[in-house]
Amino acid sequence: MIRDTDFRGLTVLVAGATQPSRRVIRRYRHAGAVVRRLESPEDHAPIVLDDIALVALVADGQPGWDRLAAHCRASSTLLVREQAALPRGRVTLVGGGPGPDDLLTLRALEALRAADVVFYDRLGPHLNLAALTGGAELVDVGKRPGHHPVVQSEIECRMVDAARAGHHVVRLKGGDPFVFGRGGEEVASCVEAGIEVTVVPGITSAVSVPAAAGIPVTHRDVSHLFTVVSGHAPLSVAEYEHLAGLRGTIVVLMGVGTLPQLMAGLAKAGMDGATPVAIVERGYSDSQRTTVSDLSGIVMAATAARCKSPAVLVIGDVVRQGVNGGSAAAQFAGFAPAAEGV
Ligand code: SAH
Repeated sequence: MIRDTDFRGLTVLVAGATQPSRRVIRRYRHAGAVVRRLESPEDHAPIVLDDIALVALVADGQPGWDRLAAHCRASSTLLVREQAALPRGRVTLVGGGPGPDDLLTLRALEALRAADVVFYDRLGPHLNLAALTGGAELVDVGKRPGHHPVVQSEIECRMVDAARAGHHVVRLKGGDPFVFGRGGEEVASCVEAGIEVTVVPGITSAVSVPAAAGIPVTHRDVSHLFTVVSGHAPLSVAEYEHLAGLRGTIVVLMGVGTLPQLMAGLAKAGMDGATPVAIVERGYSDSQRTTVSDLSGIVMAATAARCKSPAVLVIGDVVRQGVNGGSAAAQFAGFAPAAEGV
């Protein structure tokens, strides 16, 4: 296909068998064309090419398309030879970053543009997907109000099936696919099914969401290490002791629901109750908000502010630091246990 061309108001004749032509038809429709079809070479005798701006001939292995090509030449109609849908598809796991389109990498954009099907959820960039893809089918596998999320095993089956049908499947994930993203499982199921799979890393919320609130996860003379923890599964006493003993920054994803247990576990493991804690909700959205307190006060502050997922917790002295306007640091200096919007 002639890429990035506006076909609005033009009629394109796509010639070729149904299955191999599917991708080509979708692309021209996406570019605004009215698509007419010719499924086999025998059909074309009565066809008049007068109002056809372009003939897209899909290599589908059928003999006999030469007559159509000659017809095009005789009537000076532009003919483009298109690649048929590949018999074997592939899967690309794409890290979509923490939300905004401009935090997608160039490689992620390239994969989206080349996709036939995109499986997405609401943690990654999803509002603008139609514009970011070249007419790919968009499948929401995340939670929707009143809908249950598609379970992981079904997502994996659907990805594999679509790739088997010859499609380039993009699985778009929030942040980085390999940071609590179940990306490893998706790679494994593709490998097991013999499907080619590649991974495009993304900007993880573990680092970028604290940054959105002005919090660096490491800072010279303050913290030279950070640990990223999931708040989803309960931590053992030994894990709390190790975390507290590291004296570095602790970043918790999926930790709003288990905040009381997390704070109690760290306090019991010897962490100072005055250690600063920040909760950064909905990073990079218009409703981004940072709530700051300390280890002993954050549960009350979060309850008062009705903190909700998605949010990233940052525990450690780095919360006092400030870059990017330093919203968290400013709040910490004022030390208001109640939340304030930023
Ligand atoms: N793979 C993702 C993490 C998936 S787990 C990554 O690398 O970022 C989902 C958790 O990520 C959420 O519960 C929340 O803790 C965090 N998260 C992702 N995007 C976020 C955002 N824009 N703002 C706040 N938290 C976010």
